Amino acid sequence: ALTIGIVGLPNAGKSTLFNALTRNDVLAANYPFATIEPNVGVVGVPDARLGVLAELFHSERTVPATVSFVDIAGIVRGASKGEGMGNAFLSHIREADAICQVTRVFTDADVTHVDGRVNPGNDIETINTELILADLQTVERALPRLEKEARMNKDKQATLAAVQQAQEVLDSGRTVFAAGLDREPLRELFLLTAKPFLYVFNCDSDELADDDLKDRLRTIVAPAEAIFLDAKIESELVEMEPDEAREFLAEMDVEEPGLDVLARVGFDTLGLQTYLTAGPKESRAWTIPKGATAPEAAGVIHTDFQKGFIKAEVISFEDLVAAGSMVAARSKGKVRLEGKDYVMADGDVVEFRFNV
Ligand code: GDP
Repeated sequence: ALTIGIVGLPNAGKSTLFNALTRNDVLAANYPFATIEPNVGVVGVPDARLGVLAELFHSERTVPATVSFVDIAGIVRGASKGEGMGNAFLSHIREADAICQVTRVFTDADVTHVDGRVNPGNDIETINTELILADLQTVERALPRLEKEARMNKDKQATLAAVQQAQEVLDSGRTVFAAGLDREPLRELFLLTAKPFLYVFNCDSDELADDDLKDRLRTIVAPAEAIFLDAKIESELVEMEPDEAREFLAEMDVEEPGLDVLARVGFDTLGLQTYLTAGPKESRAWTIPKGATAPEAAGVIHTDFQKGFIKAEVISFEDLVAAGSMVAARSKGKVRLEGKDYVMADGDVVEFRFNV
């Protein structure tokens, strides 16, 4: 499964956020036999459609899609030169599929800051500089080989040009992701800053209410997504009963828990989407890459479904709800029969037909 690595300076609130994420763990409820690693948090992606389907189909349970977060401890200034836990740190990031940077916005005299004062823009630069320096080393090591290959093989010239362009971007202090470069020709270098980024700004309540501040921070990290939450509050929310948590959120005038937003945005940042199945046993969201075809989607349930794929019966969630039942939807001609080239849309409700 794809994972999101959580990074950030010491005392940014990473552990607090990560603990909240793991308390929210859906593995225990839905996958009782899964082994859970201590530094991995698997959280459900909230999806209101599942509850609606469960009512329509009288499902015994709902199973959401999940997204995995890995706690990557230990970045310090100089990590790219191997300082602190530098090398181990960088190799853990290399394994992650996206990077979630936790950035401190809250001020608290009792919680020290490595630089003595809270400055989100500086902190982001500190971390990104280490990642950029590590990528520059990778690029500089690869270039002589790529230049030689490109001289002998014209097909390699596009790769060389892409890597040279990446070098320029990195030299100017930007990440490959922020510069919007095409990742495909750079793939073989496994660059850290080519991964998709998202930013969690760890705020206290007064900062959460400060729209100007939030806009400024959004601008700093664009085109990456910015999520604003209070990690301490989130860690308290996950300990509450659902009713109590709802009341608490309403009092603070917050629509939904920050962790829910993080799960959804994280899922999207990984390039994933869901399709839905529904029946008396369960209503379930299945994870597929954006752009997946119907047989690929079937293969997520079982490889035999993909091998023996014949057709998919597909209806959009909205059409199904409007019709009230699968039977009614069929009689209204709202259920489509799709073949092996069909590209799945988010929120398709599907039944597969296959040979066994
Ligand atoms: P880490 O080093 O990034 O893992 O940071 P921690 O999660 O250990 O947090 C460092 C300290 O900041 C702890 O004492 C937390 O209780 C506190 N802290 C974390 N998040 C918040 C927050 O949103 N507001 C305030 N006031 N304190 C926080």
